[in-house]
Amino acid sequence: RISETSVLNDEEASLEKSLRPQTLDEYIGQEKIKRNLAVFIQAAKQRQESLDHILLFGPPGLGKTTLAMIVANELGTKLHTITGPAIERTGDLAAVLTVLGPGDVLFIDEIHRIPKSAEEILYSAMEDFCIDILIGKSEETKRSVRVPLPPFTLVGATTKAGMISSPLRDRFGIIGHLEYYKPEELFQIIRRSASILDTVIDDEGAMEIARRSRGTPRVANRLLKRVRDFAQIKGNGLITKAIADQGLLALDIDSEGLDTMDRRILSAIIDQFRGGPVGIETLASTLGEGRDTLEYMVEPFLLQQGFIQRTPRGRIATEKTYQHLGRVISERRAV
Ligand code: ATP
Repeated sequence: RISETSVLNDEEASLEKSLRPQTLDEYIGQEKIKRNLAVFIQAAKQRQESLDHILLFGPPGLGKTTLAMIVANELGTKLHTITGPAIERTGDLAAVLTVLGPGDVLFIDEIHRIPKSAEEILYSAMEDFCIDILIGKSEETKRSVRVPLPPFTLVGATTKAGMISSPLRDRFGIIGHLEYYKPEELFQIIRRSASILDTVIDDEGAMEIARRSRGTPRVANRLLKRVRDFAQIKGNGLITKAIADQGLLALDIDSEGLDTMDRRILSAIIDQFRGGPVGIETLASTLGEGRDTLEYMVEPFLLQQGFIQRTPRGRIATEKTYQHLGRVISERRAV
């Protein structure tokens, strides 16, 4: 899954770019956020004010970066992008803040990873549109200068709702939780992407990929691209349900859209912990994966789909999981 989130190769990066919707109208799904943003953007434009700061929560690949780009585009201003881990010192943040133009959008991805000292600079930047910078090298010459900033809009994105401190969260006027997409929405995204890629796909083919894309547009686009190769080599170029099925199975995506990592987690809960409950930390070390990867990237979808349940004593595999993996539930430990 790592390749889907952070380390995109050049080809995938340029594909992502071409498939990215440019306007709110082109952005499919997330209706509530979209409706609200449309109103707030129009109101800010009419008042000729900067748009309020926006905080976006949600698992990777659901379209946070895309939304930030769209906001800047709809406002007719420039987008500046930085990620939380790239801000090592307060100076890194000051450097991006001081080049902002009036009304520009600053997108900070993984905002939960900025250091505390930089977070404090952000408070005054967001609230008062100014920052205090320390200048001078020696004790005698050292002093703090107030630097005014033009009004701007901060768009913060995070996969970890619980990791944002409340003083930071309170400074965002607009908060949006991105949800996993419904198959019908992914269906539309796939149809749209296929037409941009000049690929012919029938409705059943598009629905098959949509159903098996983990509710995630980035996954849907990636699978579409791979299945397109199968259609070209094993078929006549047209993506049908049969071709999609063949391609997805070859990619180890099962009938419910679970991938190898999903099935490893579920099997581990059943086979090594007799169905659970098992704590996330134990599960992560058993699998040799990072706790964060499990908790924020893999598990949310399994919870949402009812494959895992969270209890105070840990995660348990549900009946659906036993059935899906063809296991016998009577072997389960009494919960
Ligand atoms: P990350 O936080 O991992 O960067 P993200 O949530 O910012 O993920 P994006 O990079 O914005 O995700 O989206 C991934 C891809 O999915 C984009 O290239 C875009 O083409 C597509 N996409 C996302 N949301 C939508 C949407 N609502 N409609 C159509 N395509 C979408």
